[in-house]
Amino acid sequence: MSVIRDKIDQIKFRVLSPSVVKSMSVVKVVNPELYDADGYPIDGGLMDLRMGVISPGMRCRTCGERVKECPGHFGYIKLARPVIHIFYVKWIYKLLKSTCRECGRLLLSSEELEKVKAELDSDLDTSELVSEAKKKKLVSRASSRKKCYYCDAKKKRVRLNKPYTFYYGKKKLTPIDVREWLERIRDEDLGVTSFNPLAGRPEWMVLTLVPVPPVTVRPSITLESGTKSEDDLTHKLGDLVRANQRLYENLSAGAPEIIIDDLWDLLQYHVTTLFKNNVSQIPPARHRSGRPLKTLAARIKSKQGRFRKNLAGKRVDFSARSVISPDPFIKINEVGIPRLMAFELTIPERVTEWNINWLKNFIKNGPTKYPGANYVITPEGKRKKISEETMEVILEELGVGYVVERHLLNGDPVIFNRQPSLHRMSMMVHKTRILPHKTLRLNLCVCPPYNADFDGDEMNLHLPQLPEARAESQILLDVNNHLVSPRYGLPIIGFINDHILGAYLLTQEGVTLSREEAMDLLFSVGISDLPDKKELTGREVFSQLLPDGFDFELKSRDGNHIKIRDGVLESGFLNKKSLGAGSGLLIQYLFRDFGQSVAIDFINKATVLFIKYLQRAGVTVSPSDSDLPRKGEQKIRNIINYYTSKVDGLIEDYKKDKIKAYPGKTKRETLEFKVLASLS
Ligand SMILES: [Zn+2]
Ligand SMILES: [Zn+2]
Repeated sequence: MSVIRDKIDQIKFRVLSPSVVKSMSVVKVVNPELYDADGYPIDGGLMDLRMGVISPGMRCRTCGERVKECPGHFGYIKLARPVIHIFYVKWIYKLLKSTCRECGRLLLSSEELEKVKAELDSDLDTSELVSEAKKKKLVSRASSRKKCYYCDAKKKRVRLNKPYTFYYGKKKLTPIDVREWLERIRDEDLGVTSFNPLAGRPEWMVLTLVPVPPVTVRPSITLESGTKSEDDLTHKLGDLVRANQRLYENLSAGAPEIIIDDLWDLLQYHVTTLFKNNVSQIPPARHRSGRPLKTLAARIKSKQGRFRKNLAGKRVDFSARSVISPDPFIKINEVGIPRLMAFELTIPERVTEWNINWLKNFIKNGPTKYPGANYVITPEGKRKKISEETMEVILEELGVGYVVERHLLNGDPVIFNRQPSLHRMSMMVHKTRILPHKTLRLNLCVCPPYNADFDGDEMNLHLPQLPEARAESQILLDVNNHLVSPRYGLPIIGFINDHILGAYLLTQEGVTLSREEAMDLLFSVGISDLPDKKELTGREVFSQLLPDGFDFELKSRDGNHIKIRDGVLESGFLNKKSLGAGSGLLIQYLFRDFGQSVAIDFINKATVLFIKYLQRAGVTVSPSDSDLPRKGEQKIRNIINYYTSKVDGLIEDYKKDKIKAYPGKTKRETLEFKVLASLS
């Protein structure tokens, strides 16, 4: 098979003509049976070998190729009587309404037609929408005419009884009537409707042939027991062929008209449900088990259809997904990755004379010991799996130019993502931290940009593979480069919940810590030299995190006055306004005056300090904290009393017959309406 390398410029969809259906087909399907007694596909059946092969070892009788090589070929079913194509009912209805049944002309005078044609010609370079709107108006004008301009015939009303039965006046139109009518419409008249005569003839919207899709798009599955399970489409087509053959037999036997009409209706039903199995007004075709069949339209549209499931969305390699959980002791630009995942997620590393010994260690560990490697790729591009048996040979032959696919290591950049990906901070690069257990872990400060919490949220990882991608992603997406939100210019990565509570308690007036306590706290964030004092205040402890020369002031309405002079917190306590994500002015000023790395360093250290302090401080909550105050209780009671009396009044009026009914409503309905209105 040759490969087509042209680029597609545009695709146009048109109605298939019966002659095209026939010419693209290789089989006329006439037999509803699939296999003979030996399990071999029957000639003229739905699994006919000329329509392609699906079982290994067999050859297609059209192209001679085997499974996977043969693309499959269409067949067709010749319908005993024509039927309406369900997807074109609207178009047929429009054309029937606007044309004459006798001569097929559009119901417009020749002057009108000439005028419109001239207008449309001069419109050629204006918008397609404009001429489309004109055409629409024209067709609706033609639909209102009561008489033909050309043959003087009187036009009766055309009615559509959904889903697909047409009436002309009182007479029911059979698909044959409809088809003949559509045949009479001239191409030149179609030119002024939205129906493009170059795209096809309107009578093709009434089917005489049905294309049978190749076997390859509706493969059967052989179960363990050896029985074959057929695709829904094959089931549906089988019913169609069966109904069609019965109609043929009855027609040639000269059966009474009632029987013919019933069978014709059944044929119409099967063709309709082949295209679309959820037409309102008619019951869906079902499998023997009672499950509705999945036919053509359902295969293409909706979330589970071909476009959204298979074409727009694809699975990718080098990615992972798991539940997330918090870890306050990793840095904000780190992500905790389960060791289990690290065995599967690999990075290709090219062997040079400088790293060959380092890489050999990974190969020695193999795929089962961390940190190891799963594959090597030779300079010729051959993949070799590392295992107990192959390890010796691979270690022997490994040289410059080989590629080793090693396990993920601490510090590798990975892209971390939480859906919905609404802004650029929804995908950021974190540095790997390989940890035990099975969840992905992140620092609480990066919850706001991802909008993540831990009630079962899952997040995704993607590993940039090549050095260029690793470098680029790190430069563009690193968490540290996304401290400030582009939306409102304040830090989006900041302190939340427990951090703020810890900070609040630590910086209260009168909080003192012994030198040992302060030392313990600060050592956990990597600070070892303290002011030479026996006792430190909470503010002094906090000040150790601030750089010298940092000045900051923030007054708030509750009287809190935060004052930082030369990196020392002199007064005030820290709160959400100064530290929180989305507001954090203190972080903002640090970022502005000292740069990104100082701000990041502050956040990393302060989170640990605040949480460590909160662990020893503690906060108590008791049930009585949620008790309603007396005043509130009274207020609620007053509101309830007010509305109760209001509704009572309405009911009283109703009983005394003082309520006037609203138009079209009974008195009782009016009462209900009034009660609802007064309560909302
Ligand atoms: Zn073939
Ligand atoms: Zn006419």
